Amino acid sequence: MKFAITSKGDQASNSLADTMREYLLDFEFVSDEEEPDIVISVGGDGTLLHAFHRYYKRLDKTAFVGVHTGHLGFYADWLPNEVEKLVIAIAKTPFQVVEYPLLEVIIRYLDGSRETQYLALNEATIKSSNGTLVIDVEIRGEYFETFRGDGLCISTPSGSTAYNKALGGAIIHPSIEAIQVAEMASINNRVFRTVGSPLVLPKHHTCVLRSVNDTGLQLTIDHLTVVHEHVKSIQCRVANQKVRFVRFRPFPFWNRVRDSFVADK
Ligand code: NAD
Repeated sequence: MKFAITSKGDQASNSLADTMREYLLDFEFVSDEEEPDIVISVGGDGTLLHAFHRYYKRLDKTAFVGVHTGHLGFYADWLPNEVEKLVIAIAKTPFQVVEYPLLEVIIRYLDGSRETQYLALNEATIKSSNGTLVIDVEIRGEYFETFRGDGLCISTPSGSTAYNKALGGAIIHPSIEAIQVAEMASINNRVFRTVGSPLVLPKHHTCVLRSVNDTGLQLTIDHLTVVHEHVKSIQCRVANQKVRFVRFRPFPFWNRVRDSFVADK
Protein backbone atom coordinates (compact mmCIF):
# COMPACT_ATOMS: atom_id res chain seq x y z
CA MET A 1 0.00 0.00 0.00
CA LYS A 2 1.19 3.52 -0.83
CA PHE A 3 0.90 6.30 1.71
CA ALA A 4 1.55 10.03 2.02
CA ILE A 5 1.77 12.08 5.18
CA THR A 6 0.94 15.78 5.31
CA SER A 7 1.96 17.81 8.34
CA LYS A 8 0.77 21.13 9.72
CA GLY A 9 4.44 22.11 9.71
CA ASP A 10 5.04 22.83 13.38
CA GLN A 11 7.67 20.88 15.30
CA ALA A 12 5.23 18.56 17.12
CA SER A 13 3.38 17.65 13.90
CA ASN A 14 6.61 17.20 11.91
CA SER A 15 8.15 14.88 14.47
CA LEU A 16 4.93 12.84 14.77
CA ALA A 17 4.79 12.63 10.95
CA ASP A 18 8.43 11.38 10.92
CA THR A 19 7.62 8.73 13.55
CA MET A 20 4.61 7.50 11.58
CA ARG A 21 6.62 7.42 8.34
CA GLU A 22 9.28 5.23 10.00
CA TYR A 23 6.65 2.88 11.45
CA LEU A 24 4.90 2.54 8.08
CA LEU A 25 8.16 1.93 6.20
CA ASP A 26 8.99 -0.78 8.79
CA PHE A 27 5.74 -2.44 7.78
CA GLU A 28 6.96 -2.25 4.16
CA PHE A 29 4.47 0.37 3.08
CA VAL A 30 5.61 2.57 0.20
CA SER A 31 5.88 6.34 0.56
CA ASP A 32 4.28 7.94 -2.52
CA GLU A 33 3.45 11.64 -2.42
CA GLU A 34 1.87 11.63 -5.87
CA GLU A 35 -0.43 8.59 -5.90
CA PRO A 36 -1.11 7.51 -2.32
CA ASP A 37 -3.83 5.01 -1.39
CA ILE A 38 -3.97 6.52 2.07
CA VAL A 39 -3.21 10.09 3.16
CA ILE A 40 -2.41 10.71 6.82
CA SER A 41 -2.83 14.29 7.90
CA VAL A 42 -1.02 15.34 11.07
CA GLY A 43 -2.06 18.66 12.63
CA GLY A 44 -5.67 19.78 12.72
CA ASP A 45 -8.79 20.09 10.57
CA GLY A 46 -7.02 22.79 8.53
CA THR A 47 -4.22 20.33 7.68
CA LEU A 48 -6.78 17.82 6.48
CA LEU A 49 -8.48 20.50 4.37
CA HIS A 50 -5.08 21.20 2.73
CA ALA A 51 -4.55 17.46 2.15
CA PHE A 52 -8.03 17.14 0.62
CA HIS A 53 -7.31 19.94 -1.86
CA ARG A 54 -3.92 18.52 -2.71
CA TYR A 55 -5.42 15.13 -3.65
CA TYR A 56 -8.91 16.19 -4.81
CA LYS A 57 -8.27 14.82 -8.29
CA ARG A 58 -7.91 11.25 -7.02
CA LEU A 59 -10.65 11.08 -4.38
CA ASP A 60 -11.87 7.71 -5.65
CA LYS A 61 -8.42 6.20 -5.13
CA THR A 62 -7.40 7.87 -1.87
CA ALA A 63 -8.71 7.63 1.69
CA PHE A 64 -7.86 10.13 4.43
CA VAL A 65 -7.17 9.81 8.13
CA GLY A 66 -6.40 12.67 10.51
CA VAL A 67 -4.24 12.84 13.63
CA HIS A 68 -4.54 15.99 15.73
CA THR A 69 -1.65 17.63 17.49
CA GLY A 70 -3.85 20.41 18.92
CA HIS A 71 -7.45 20.09 20.07
CA LEU A 72 -9.85 17.38 18.89
CA GLY A 73 -10.75 17.98 15.28
CA PHE A 74 -13.73 16.92 13.23
CA TYR A 75 -11.55 15.34 10.59
CA ALA A 76 -8.44 14.95 12.74
CA ASP A 77 -9.67 12.60 15.46
CA TRP A 78 -6.67 10.41 16.35
CA LEU A 79 -4.53 11.43 19.32
CA PRO A 80 -0.72 11.74 19.07
CA ASN A 81 -0.30 8.93 21.64
CA GLU A 82 -2.41 6.61 19.47
CA VAL A 83 -0.23 6.68 16.34
CA GLU A 84 1.40 3.30 17.05
CA LYS A 85 -2.07 1.77 17.36
CA LEU A 86 -3.11 3.59 14.19
CA VAL A 87 -0.13 2.31 12.17
CA ILE A 88 -0.75 -1.26 13.35
CA ALA A 89 -4.41 -0.87 12.40
CA ILE A 90 -3.44 0.41 8.94
CA ALA A 91 -0.99 -2.47 8.52
CA LYS A 92 -3.08 -5.32 9.88
CA THR A 93 -6.73 -4.42 9.43
CA PRO A 94 -8.56 -4.44 6.11
CA PHE A 95 -9.76 -0.92 6.68
CA GLN A 96 -13.31 0.31 6.34
CA VAL A 97 -14.05 3.48 4.51
CA VAL A 98 -16.82 5.99 5.18
CA GLU A 99 -17.83 8.38 2.43
CA TYR A 100 -19.01 11.95 3.01
CA PRO A 101 -20.78 14.23 0.51
CA LEU A 102 -18.98 17.20 -1.02
CA LEU A 103 -20.10 20.52 -2.49
CA GLU A 104 -19.54 21.26 -6.17
CA VAL A 105 -19.25 24.92 -7.15
CA ILE A 106 -19.20 26.02 -10.79
CA ILE A 107 -18.50 29.65 -11.65
CA ARG A 108 -19.60 30.95 -15.04
CA TYR A 109 -18.47 34.26 -16.49
CA LEU A 110 -20.30 37.01 -18.40
CA ASP A 111 -18.43 36.43 -21.66
CA GLY A 112 -19.40 32.74 -21.60
CA SER A 113 -15.82 31.79 -22.40
CA ARG A 114 -15.12 29.33 -19.62
CA GLU A 115 -16.14 27.99 -16.26
CA THR A 116 -14.26 27.23 -13.06
CA GLN A 117 -15.13 24.21 -10.97
CA TYR A 118 -14.32 23.66 -7.30
CA LEU A 119 -14.99 20.92 -4.78
CA ALA A 120 -15.37 21.88 -1.12
CA LEU A 121 -15.08 19.60 1.88
CA ASN A 122 -16.48 22.17 4.36
CA GLU A 123 -18.09 25.04 2.49
CA ALA A 124 -18.01 27.83 -0.03
CA THR A 125 -18.74 31.40 1.04
CA ILE A 126 -19.67 34.22 -1.31
CA LYS A 127 -19.16 37.85 -0.40
CA SER A 128 -18.95 40.98 -2.47
CA SER A 129 -15.46 42.34 -2.99
CA ASN A 130 -17.06 45.81 -2.91
CA GLY A 131 -19.67 46.47 -0.19
CA THR A 132 -23.02 44.76 0.31
CA LEU A 133 -23.59 41.54 -1.58
CA VAL A 134 -26.76 41.72 -3.66
CA ILE A 135 -27.42 38.40 -5.29
CA ASP A 136 -30.41 36.59 -6.76
CA VAL A 137 -30.88 33.11 -5.38
CA GLU A 138 -32.41 30.54 -7.71
CA ILE A 139 -33.36 27.02 -6.59
CA ARG A 140 -34.11 24.27 -9.11
CA GLY A 141 -34.30 26.82 -11.89
CA GLU A 142 -36.86 29.04 -10.09
CA TYR A 143 -36.23 32.49 -8.61
CA PHE A 144 -36.29 32.20 -4.79
CA GLU A 145 -35.16 35.55 -3.35
CA THR A 146 -32.79 38.46 -3.70
CA PHE A 147 -30.27 38.34 -0.88
CA ARG A 148 -28.75 41.56 0.47
CA GLY A 149 -26.17 41.40 3.19
CA ASP A 150 -22.66 40.27 4.06
CA GLY A 151 -22.71 36.97 2.21
CA LEU A 152 -23.90 33.41 1.86
CA CYS A 153 -22.34 30.20 3.12
CA ILE A 154 -23.05 26.94 1.32
CA SER A 155 -21.83 24.00 3.33
CA THR A 156 -21.54 20.23 3.19
CA PRO A 157 -22.91 18.03 5.99
CA SER A 158 -19.41 17.46 7.42
CA GLY A 159 -18.76 21.20 7.09
CA SER A 160 -22.02 22.02 8.86
CA THR A 161 -20.13 22.02 12.18
CA ALA A 162 -17.66 24.64 10.91
CA TYR A 163 -18.46 28.14 9.57
CA ASN A 164 -22.11 27.15 9.00
CA LYS A 165 -22.58 26.47 12.70
CA ALA A 166 -21.29 29.93 13.60
CA LEU A 167 -24.00 31.35 11.29
CA GLY A 168 -26.78 29.51 13.12
CA GLY A 169 -27.02 26.72 10.54
CA ALA A 170 -28.13 23.22 11.48
CA ILE A 171 -25.71 20.39 12.08
CA ILE A 172 -26.39 17.75 9.42
CA HIS A 173 -25.35 14.13 9.64
CA PRO A 174 -22.89 13.31 6.82
CA SER A 175 -24.95 10.30 5.74
CA ILE A 176 -27.47 12.83 4.37
CA GLU A 177 -26.60 13.90 0.86
CA ALA A 178 -27.42 17.58 1.06
CA ILE A 179 -26.01 21.09 1.05
CA GLN A 180 -27.03 23.93 3.34
CA VAL A 181 -27.37 27.61 2.43
CA ALA A 182 -26.90 29.93 5.43
CA GLU A 183 -27.12 33.72 5.46
CA MET A 184 -24.48 36.10 6.77
CA ALA A 185 -26.17 39.19 8.22
CA SER A 186 -28.97 39.67 5.70
CA ILE A 187 -30.61 43.09 5.41
CA ASN A 188 -34.25 42.65 6.35
CA ASN A 189 -36.67 45.55 6.58
CA ARG A 190 -39.88 46.80 4.91
CA VAL A 191 -38.13 47.01 1.57
CA PHE A 192 -35.74 44.07 1.49
CA ARG A 193 -36.66 40.56 2.56
CA THR A 194 -34.97 37.18 2.66
CA VAL A 195 -36.19 33.88 4.06
CA GLY A 196 -33.95 34.36 7.11
CA SER A 197 -33.58 30.63 7.83
CA PRO A 198 -30.87 28.25 6.63
CA LEU A 199 -32.06 26.09 3.72
CA VAL A 200 -31.15 22.42 3.37
CA LEU A 201 -31.19 21.29 -0.25
CA PRO A 202 -31.21 17.63 -1.26
CA LYS A 203 -29.08 16.11 -3.99
CA HIS A 204 -30.00 17.37 -7.48
CA HIS A 205 -31.63 20.55 -6.12
CA THR A 206 -29.16 22.95 -7.61
CA CYS A 207 -28.81 26.47 -6.23
CA VAL A 208 -27.66 29.18 -8.64
CA LEU A 209 -26.55 32.61 -7.42
CA ARG A 210 -26.56 35.54 -9.83
CA SER A 211 -24.90 38.78 -8.78
CA VAL A 212 -27.14 41.83 -9.19
CA ASN A 213 -25.04 44.85 -8.25
CA ASP A 214 -21.53 43.92 -9.28
CA THR A 215 -19.65 41.02 -10.74
CA GLY A 216 -16.56 41.06 -8.53
CA LEU A 217 -17.09 38.38 -5.92
CA GLN A 218 -14.92 37.13 -3.11
CA LEU A 219 -15.25 33.41 -2.85
CA THR A 220 -13.85 31.06 -0.26
CA ILE A 221 -13.56 27.34 -0.78
CA ASP A 222 -12.68 25.85 2.61
CA HIS A 223 -9.44 27.63 3.62
CA LEU A 224 -8.83 29.11 0.14
CA THR A 225 -9.88 32.66 -0.85
CA VAL A 226 -10.19 33.78 -4.45
CA VAL A 227 -11.66 36.87 -6.13
CA HIS A 228 -13.55 36.30 -9.37
CA GLU A 229 -14.40 39.19 -11.73
CA HIS A 230 -17.15 39.35 -14.37
CA VAL A 231 -19.11 36.52 -12.77
CA LYS A 232 -22.43 35.62 -14.35
CA SER A 233 -23.46 32.87 -11.95
CA ILE A 234 -22.30 30.53 -9.21
CA GLN A 235 -23.87 27.09 -9.28
CA CYS A 236 -23.84 24.99 -6.09
CA ARG A 237 -24.98 21.42 -5.66
CA VAL A 238 -24.09 18.13 -4.02
CA ALA A 239 -21.06 16.81 -5.93
CA ASN A 240 -20.99 13.44 -7.65
CA GLN A 241 -17.64 12.75 -6.01
CA LYS A 242 -17.34 11.89 -2.32
CA VAL A 243 -14.46 12.09 0.13
CA ARG A 244 -13.39 8.82 1.74
CA PHE A 245 -12.19 8.53 5.34
CA VAL A 246 -10.49 5.47 6.77
CA ARG A 247 -12.24 4.09 9.84
CA PHE A 248 -10.52 1.69 12.22
CA ARG A 249 -12.83 2.20 15.16
CA PRO A 250 -16.30 3.57 15.62
CA PHE A 251 -16.45 7.27 16.40
CA PRO A 252 -20.07 8.19 15.74
CA PHE A 253 -20.66 11.67 14.34
CA TRP A 254 -22.92 12.72 17.22
CA ASN A 255 -20.26 11.70 19.76
CA ARG A 256 -17.82 13.88 17.87
CA VAL A 257 -20.31 16.79 17.97
CA ARG A 258 -20.86 16.23 21.70
CA ASP A 259 -17.14 15.98 22.49
CA SER A 260 -16.31 19.07 20.44
CA PHE A 261 -19.12 21.40 21.43
CA VAL A 262 -20.88 20.17 24.55
CA ALA A 263 -18.71 18.12 26.91
CA ASP A 264 -15.69 15.86 26.95
CA LYS A 265 -16.52 12.32 28.04
P1 NAD B 1 -8.74 28.34 11.06
O1 NAD B 1 -7.32 28.08 11.44
O2 NAD B 1 -9.31 29.72 11.19
O3 NAD B 1 -9.63 27.25 11.88
C1 NAD B 1 -10.97 27.31 11.95
C2 NAD B 1 -11.50 26.33 13.00
O4 NAD B 1 -12.51 25.57 12.34
C3 NAD B 1 -10.53 25.34 13.61
O5 NAD B 1 -10.76 25.29 15.00
C4 NAD B 1 -10.92 24.00 12.98
O6 NAD B 1 -10.70 22.88 13.84
C5 NAD B 1 -12.40 24.22 12.78
N1 NAD B 1 -12.96 23.37 11.74
C6 NAD B 1 -12.55 23.18 10.46
N2 NAD B 1 -13.35 22.32 9.86
C7 NAD B 1 -14.29 21.95 10.75
C8 NAD B 1 -15.41 21.11 10.71
N3 NAD B 1 -15.74 20.47 9.59
N4 NAD B 1 -16.19 21.00 11.82
C9 NAD B 1 -15.89 21.66 12.95
N5 NAD B 1 -14.84 22.48 13.05
C10 NAD B 1 -14.06 22.63 11.96
O7 NAD B 1 -8.94 27.92 9.54
P2 NAD B 1 -8.57 26.57 8.84
O8 NAD B 1 -7.98 25.61 9.81
O9 NAD B 1 -7.83 26.89 7.59
O10 NAD B 1 -10.02 26.07 8.44
C11 NAD B 1 -10.80 26.69 7.47
C12 NAD B 1 -12.20 26.62 7.95
O11 NAD B 1 -12.39 27.60 8.95
C13 NAD B 1 -13.23 26.95 6.92
O12 NAD B 1 -13.55 25.85 6.12
C14 NAD B 1 -14.38 27.42 7.78
O13 NAD B 1 -15.31 26.38 8.04
C15 NAD B 1 -13.77 27.79 9.09
N6 NAD B 1 -14.10 29.17 9.38
C16 NAD B 1 -14.94 29.38 10.41
C17 NAD B 1 -15.37 30.66 10.71
C18 NAD B 1 -16.31 30.85 11.85
O14 NAD B 1 -16.63 29.86 12.54
N7 NAD B 1 -16.79 32.06 12.07
C19 NAD B 1 -14.91 31.76 9.97
C20 NAD B 1 -14.05 31.50 8.93
C21 NAD B 1 -13.65 30.18 8.62
